[in-house]
Amino acid sequence: MNDLLPDRVNVRRLASRAAKLTGICPIGGCKRLLAVVSGTVGDAQVSLSFSIDGQHRALMHCTVIATVEMPCQRCLEPMSVELVAEAVLALVITEEQAANLPAGYEPLLAKDDMVELASVVEDELLLVLPLAPSHDTEGCSRTESEPESPLEDKPNPFAVLETLKRK
Ligand SMILES: [Zn+2]
Repeated sequence: MNDLLPDRVNVRRLASRAAKLTGICPIGGCKRLLAVVSGTVGDAQVSLSFSIDGQHRALMHCTVIATVEMPCQRCLEPMSVELVAEAVLALVITEEQAANLPAGYEPLLAKDDMVELASVVEDELLLVLPLAPSHDTEGCSRTESEPESPLEDKPNPFAVLETLKRK
């Protein structure tokens, strides 16, 4: 389960054997990912299952789970964000083939059938990054229910709570 995945795989060969691969992929050195997150936590857990579809396309169905750190958009404190990416990638040789793939397939451009897994994993994680992550209200050090002005007409919920506590 915690085996390191190979760096490069021959997708067509694995697809013709209907192979399955499960393992981890280190993401600490993924530069494009690190450019947009504050850090990574551990390795990505990756499951790959290969197949050939009715049009003789070599497919790689991948599931990637990883944790990254991003600043909370409300309080700006770092927070852990679990990323779960799932995709069906179809091996293609030309941009034209890539453009003609049916919906639901993502192109996997590789002229010699060889694919670098770390790069695929990184692409998939980038696709599912949340734009503006924030803590749950309880976990955030800045809550939106904080009263903005003491002159507000509505009764302050915290004041009500205080009255209840004193009784
Ligand atoms: Zn927060």
